[in-house]
Amino acid sequence: MATIINGKEVAAKIRAELKKEVEELIKNGIYPKLAVIMVGNDSASAVYVRNKSKACNEIGIEFEEFLMEENTTREQLLELIDKLNNRKDINGILLQSPIPKHLDIREAFNAINYKKDVDGFHPINVGKLAIGEDCFISCTPAGVIKMLEEYNIPIEGKHAVVIGRSNIVGKPLSQCLLNKNATVTICHSRTKNLEEITKQADILVAAIGKPKFVTENMVKQNAVVIDVGINRTEDGKLVGDVDYEKVEPKATYITPVPGGVGPMTIAMLMTNVVKAAKNLK
Ligand code: NDP
Repeated sequence: MATIINGKEVAAKIRAELKKEVEELIKNGIYPKLAVIMVGNDSASAVYVRNKSKACNEIGIEFEEFLMEENTTREQLLELIDKLNNRKDINGILLQSPIPKHLDIREAFNAINYKKDVDGFHPINVGKLAIGEDCFISCTPAGVIKMLEEYNIPIEGKHAVVIGRSNIVGKPLSQCLLNKNATVTICHSRTKNLEEITKQADILVAAIGKPKFVTENMVKQNAVVIDVGINRTEDGKLVGDVDYEKVEPKATYITPVPGGVGPMTIAMLMTNVVKAAKNLK
């Protein structure tokens, strides 16, 4: 029987610690503040933004939302980012994705001052992560590392296999694991003999976006299994990228979906906003 890694619990602990830290910062005249930009009317994004606003409220971080019309121009978006870059009261800037197709999200991410880039998407932060310098790390990968640490799961010297190489999860997570001295293999859709590779993993991470993709034959006995995937089935249920029921008996530790990696992402965003406030003080 695997130990179930309780992301909800770890995230609640982080939020409680941050709340205390923010109280101290406020006593010293530092008011952490997050600005969130949303362009268009994506309904899923609206839910994510609401959840971020709630988390800020709970911790005592100020929150300001900037809603832009679907037909916002490139110049209008860049102008707003520039304004927020220059506002002294704002420590963190987050551009909620997706944005309408006529806009270039990479250009917009790159325009955010990297010192306020609490999502860790700016090339300077990505580069700093690659060379192991202090930086803002993308929230989901940072959350995965934090979970492993909270459960005292050793990373150093372990073979970590990450399935997925996206810029927001797979690549930065692989980099984090490497920085923690794991031996890292990154797999993707062109990987040959995937099962041969995943079966070698001491720590197996699934960040694919395909429901129940990782089956028990792909997992080594006693592996640590981290499921980043969030997929909605036809009947509206949330499932991960791992076939949880089948894989769990083989694992020593496993994250459930929901209640695993998901809650960690917002907790790490809040951590990054507090870090930004301290850096900019
Ligand atoms: P992307 O779609 O950007 O990346 C998916 C990756 O999986 C790609 O690298 C792709 O390979 C790889 N892949 C796809 N099919 C296969 C296959 N058959 N075999 C091996 N690799 C494959 O997704 P994200 O990284 O953005 O997200 C991954 C999952 O994590 C999603 O379910 C998403 O919802 C979830 N997520 C959860 C978060 C959380 O807070 N818990 C936050 C962010 C994402 P290739 O590069 O070759 O195309």
